[in-house]
Amino acid sequence: MRRIALTAALLTLAAADLGAQARTWTAAERAADSAQALAAFRGNIAAIHQRDRAAYLRHYLQSPRLVRVGPGGATYGYEPLAAERDTTWPDTLVATHFEVVPVAPGVVYGTYRYRVTQGSTSRGVSERVIVRQPDGSWKVAVSTAFASPGNQPVPAFALTHATVVDGTGAPPRTDATVVMRGGKIECVGACTVAPDVETIDARGKWIVPGLVDAHVHYSQTGWADGRPDAMDVRARFPYDSTVAVLEQHPERFFRSYLCSGVTATFDVGGYPWTWALRARAEASSAAPHVAAAGPLLSTIDHWVNVPAARQFVFMGSDSATLAGARMMVHNRSDAIKIWYLAGPPSPDTTQFKARLRIAAAEARRGGIPLIVHATDLWQAKDALRAGARLLVHSVDDRPVDDEFIALARQAGATYTPTLTVTDGYVMLYARHFDAVGVPMECVDPDTRHKAALTDSAAAGMPEARVAAIRQRIAAQRQVMYANLRRVRDAGIPIAMGTDAGNPLTLHGASVFREMDAMAEAGMTPMEVLVASTRTAARAMGRTDIGTLEPGKLADLVVLDADPLAAVANLRRVRLVARGGEIWTREELEYPAR
Ligand SMILES: [Zn+2]
Repeated sequence: MRRIALTAALLTLAAADLGAQARTWTAAERAADSAQALAAFRGNIAAIHQRDRAAYLRHYLQSPRLVRVGPGGATYGYEPLAAERDTTWPDTLVATHFEVVPVAPGVVYGTYRYRVTQGSTSRGVSERVIVRQPDGSWKVAVSTAFASPGNQPVPAFALTHATVVDGTGAPPRTDATVVMRGGKIECVGACTVAPDVETIDARGKWIVPGLVDAHVHYSQTGWADGRPDAMDVRARFPYDSTVAVLEQHPERFFRSYLCSGVTATFDVGGYPWTWALRARAEASSAAPHVAAAGPLLSTIDHWVNVPAARQFVFMGSDSATLAGARMMVHNRSDAIKIWYLAGPPSPDTTQFKARLRIAAAEARRGGIPLIVHATDLWQAKDALRAGARLLVHSVDDRPVDDEFIALARQAGATYTPTLTVTDGYVMLYARHFDAVGVPMECVDPDTRHKAALTDSAAAGMPEARVAAIRQRIAAQRQVMYANLRRVRDAGIPIAMGTDAGNPLTLHGASVFREMDAMAEAGMTPMEVLVASTRTAARAMGRTDIGTLEPGKLADLVVLDADPLAAVANLRRVRLVARGGEIWTREELEYPAR
């Protein structure tokens, strides 16, 4: 009873207090205070964006009573602030969710959310108490900043007045809103936007689902150092240390993917550590989702491994094949991947056909899909007969036939054409890297540097040999294009995949040439977009991403140009959201070196 009485007394006091204020402080005055303080608050942040030290300092109360509070406690006085405020600034500062509340005449409390990148990236909440000065200006009297714990849900955002292409193949929706809350898409289309949602006017922009690359290799660098079998640079770039760096720093490729609008990747073969990338990437809004097939089973005993681990497990016997397949299942691999390179003239074809089925049976038992690298028509058909759910390359030796289509349909298989990876090898052999169409600003400086080394590497193949390879690949490309059209016409699902990590097929940035090639083959921009979003997501076993629909994860790309007018417009990335966290393209690009 006493407690209730006390509460009542407090309520009475509060009411009396508010009543007293209301007489001398009108709603109009409160609104004016809010507006003026908010303008000063925004000016305070704008000065950081403009890197204007004098303007920045002008926003603070020049008094020993100025208080700044951070995780380390309070610091008092203007002088220390001025002394500390040197000429260094954050690389980027993204400020959202500005809110102000008038607390007394001439006193306004404000808060905003920040994400700041200066070396590393942190986000958090910052507060201000802004007070009116005798001359009518508003100054910051109290300032705080606290980093948010990593597991803090991302605040809600709405993108409004955009044209939305949702990845399902449905026609675009104009003047549409996308609301993201708690890392998921809450609403698409005509949405009411709640007051706590930060609105971004996306008029004149297009919104598509985050792109998905269904064929990548984090165990490869994008240059020759990761594939010494293609060009041996081990004297300068020892393979063991190359792989060690790949394992230690996958985040540089994560950033390249996001920068390129890619919010999910399927690693279809590599070292055992690629399995661990999945949980790490899933927990980070600065990384694309990762699915991983782990080490691949191979019909050839490929030597590109490190002493402590293999990325190629040789299907040298039935028991070795079974043991390899079981290892994938035990490690909760997202697939069993087979490098099916056995050729029909080889006497061991029958053997490898049988071993493919041993692996397929194990995959079925373990409830994971079988995925196969098979580029000859007979191999691809045999893989489908064995139950392959995903072919990660085009059939490139001859036209696909009715039997192939029937087998693909029966297996419920998805076809990843992987059209452009051979171009990278040709560039490597020709010792010339052509970056046309590749957004190199999304490529980390180390990889950029190596790609540039291609041109100065010791003379490679004789020119005539390179010309012959080029010719063969051009002819092969026409077969791949015709097969892609045939597969498309038959309604077999098609997923975009680049084979990134292979020489000069750069992580992230290579998706654009691949999508261009799919369009060149005859797919419409809408078909390319669906292949690069919904279908590629399904190929990696995910139905919670790949489309813009309520309940899906909030992974999307805001573009400056219409992706349905030209596939090339997918390069015009303005913003990328991963799990509802919105990144500007500027934040994701690597600085020029
Ligand atoms: Zn591959």
